[in-house]
Amino acid sequence: MQSDLWLEEKYKNFIGYRYKINKTLFSGKSEFQSVDVVETEGLGKMLLNDGLVMVTEKDEFVYHDMITHVPMFTHPHPENVLIIGGGDGGTAREVLRHKSVKKCVMVEIDKMVVDACKEHIPQTSKDLNHPKLELIIDDGLEYVKNTTLKFDVILIDSTDPIGPAAPLFNSAFYQNVKKCLTSNGIVVSQGESVFFESHMQQVLLGILGEHFSKVSIYNYSNLTYPGGLWSFTYASDTLDPIKNFNEARVTSSNLKFNYYNEQIHRAAFALPSFMKAKVQHLLKN
Ligand code: SAM
Repeated sequence: MQSDLWLEEKYKNFIGYRYKINKTLFSGKSEFQSVDVVETEGLGKMLLNDGLVMVTEKDEFVYHDMITHVPMFTHPHPENVLIIGGGDGGTAREVLRHKSVKKCVMVEIDKMVVDACKEHIPQTSKDLNHPKLELIIDDGLEYVKNTTLKFDVILIDSTDPIGPAAPLFNSAFYQNVKKCLTSNGIVVSQGESVFFESHMQQVLLGILGEHFSKVSIYNYSNLTYPGGLWSFTYASDTLDPIKNFNEARVTSSNLKFNYYNEQIHRAAFALPSFMKAKVQHLLKN
């Protein structure tokens, strides 16, 4: 008999997305969240935290290209990079493709996410044992408070502002992030969806504006996050993501991307009018 098993992702209790699944590869509950890896019919393997889709093999490249390469090609020579969250490994994989990188520290709170992805989603996790990567299982909040290291680029690759990620969306956290950045450092953060979380985008941009003199937000369009149009925030004291973007570095890197390119880098900062109305007054350049 052919199986007809469907998984429903409920987002905010008013939208449901349904995916046909062939099998469950892992299902666990850590002290922070539930963690599931399933094999879907149409999108390859899928990671869910607390029932929300984090990554699918089919479209993870969009998110990981855009969180990583926009800041990495704006900074003239990123050597030290910090990732907070990112347990699936996709962001680390993209950071480590940059030849200038000497060290990448990744601080993920939940070992279960890392272990499940190492075992079942090598597409994203394949570089989690890379010699330039230091993987620390800890709360990112504590790490930025206590470390004395400085980073050129910090990527906040977190879940939504609920559960363990909620404190990653507040001012005290960004004060410590700033302390961990070099003077021309850049921080990029998972910036939610303008359709469903425009208030949270405003809060985050307001917090970044308290600490940084350049604040922007840029968009990407993907397959599995509700509404399709999602954002990353960008902040720095010195580097503007458009004015300081040196396209020649993309060409000379010889890196090939499935989503990112020089035109997308610039275009991502062009905001639709309904979004401008909500966030433009909080941007700084
Ligand atoms: N691409 C994803 C998305 O936005 O749906 C994010 C992927 S990644 C799986 C997010 C990770 O952030 C999760 O594994 C979660 O455990 C981690 N995380 C949440 N809060 C954290 C914290 N306070 N410190 C470190 N990692 C955290």
